[in-house]
Amino acid sequence: MPYLEALTHLFDTPRMPVLFVGHGNPMNAIQDNRFSRAWREVGSALPRPRAILCVSAHWMTRGTTLAHIGQQPETIHDFEGFPAKLYAQQYPAPGTPEAAEATISLVRSIPVSADTGWGLDHGAWSILMHLFPAADIPTFQLSLDLARPPIEHFALGRELKPLREKGILIVGSGNIVHNLRALRPDAPPYDWAEAFDADLTAKLESRNFAAAARYEALGNVARLAHPTAEHYLPVLYALGAASEEDKLTFFNTGFDLASLSMRSFILQ
Ligand code: ZN
Repeated sequence: MPYLEALTHLFDTPRMPVLFVGHGNPMNAIQDNRFSRAWREVGSALPRPRAILCVSAHWMTRGTTLAHIGQQPETIHDFEGFPAKLYAQQYPAPGTPEAAEATISLVRSIPVSADTGWGLDHGAWSILMHLFPAADIPTFQLSLDLARPPIEHFALGRELKPLREKGILIVGSGNIVHNLRALRPDAPPYDWAEAFDADLTAKLESRNFAAAARYEALGNVARLAHPTAEHYLPVLYALGAASEEDKLTFFNTGFDLASLSMRSFILQ
């Protein structure tokens, strides 16, 4: 399907914001804490989307990019060693084959394939159950192809930008700093964690979005903040889909467990 025609059957809407949410500990899904309370406040203030596209750190593919086209995505409990209450959670939002297939047609730079095997992983549902607790907005995920360099994830985010005019809320879910080996309860953040978080904040405030894709230039600070890339890459989708003139709002600034930045942002 030719570019743009792919979207013509979806009606135009006022432009949706883009969102990046630091999801942190899966327990945030069922805890009433400062992070989950902020997610509820943000969700209630957002315009109601016709659909949600979530790019979660937890759907990792290699050599392929997938979009979930199922009618009823399964709630995936992709973690180990947590209380039974967390495994009992369901987020029964419907899927949206229409929006997912339009997204597949929209992207020209790489092939995006239709998937029916995934659903909603905890990177998506742990935040969505607070942002949109009624679970009545059609939702689909796009996978992260870890074989691609960061700049290509940013470019893919750019290609998703027209979805904002179609009422689709793009939500990246990861963490701006994420080092599980360095977690420490009740400890202040590490110097390298604060340095990485501050650097990205400065890039956002100066609207230097493309520079965020070159985070590996920070060397050791980047390697400590992200021993693996998957929790950072969702940031690049939100920034790719953003415009320089968008208003930037941070929420949930600060750290959890010393090595997780919970900093989140809205660009609208
Ligand atoms: Zn995670």
